Amino acid sequence: MKILVAVKRVVDYNVKVRVKADNSGVDLANVKMSMNPFCEIAVEEAVRLKEKGVASEIVVVSIGPTAAQEQLRTALALGADRAVLVESSEELNSLAVAKLLKAVVDKEQPQLVILGKQAIDSDNNQTGQMLGALTGFAQGTFASKVEVSGDKVNVEREIDGGAQTVALSLPAIVTTDLRLNEPRYASLPNIMKAKKKPLEVLTPDALGVTTTSTVKTLKVEAPAARSAGIKVKSVAELVEKLKNEAKVI
Ligand code: AMP
Repeated sequence: MKILVAVKRVVDYNVKVRVKADNSGVDLANVKMSMNPFCEIAVEEAVRLKEKGVASEIVVVSIGPTAAQEQLRTALALGADRAVLVESSEELNSLAVAKLLKAVVDKEQPQLVILGKQAIDSDNNQTGQMLGALTGFAQGTFASKVEVSGDKVNVEREIDGGAQTVALSLPAIVTTDLRLNEPRYASLPNIMKAKKKPLEVLTPDALGVTTTSTVKTLKVEAPAARSAGIKVKSVAELVEKLKNEAKVI
């Protein structure tokens, strides 16, 4: 079974992002970039399926600038076999990304596609679902457990107040939730080996996909600064302030 995993290059989750002075977006100058954490979980799940003998090949794909090769190399060091970069320096909306992923799916013919449930930069939570609609594949989103058996994949999904298990016919799309697994770290020998693994660079044009955006970001603003808090000396003082200052009780 071939698995395709989509990985996105995003601002590292430890970075405190700054909004650009002209409010046009987030300042990416000299900021540490990493693989989106939910995509790390997607790569880990694919590697575990390969280790179990369920998967025979793992192809990782990223859509983004030349520098996204770094995240693809990380995925290769974690156990992926091959990488594809669809190079674009444009800001692409989810539908454009999903169309490009659909073109890669058509080319690679994977039986399983694993994506993160959400990219932590734009918090869209829609690429996997859009890819599901474009391909017509069954989809299991917010996966906390994935089990392939024969031509089916059983996906336990995190839903409000519990879990739901769905059986999907392959080919299928899975998006990962936080509790699916704990990703491993790449070892130094594997980082060295990853440098020699194949990494193909394609363009949207070569895939025959137009990426004209239907969404324009008008303004990005930082959250309003909070005023400093105070320490109260007693419960009585707290109650008095909640009643007379905050007027919430
Ligand atoms: P989103 O819908 O943007 O929140 O992203 C959900 C998932 O879609 C991510 O975790 C990735 O697996 C995939 N994805 C989104 N954008 C890209 C991209 N530019 N390149 C590769 N995968 C992406």
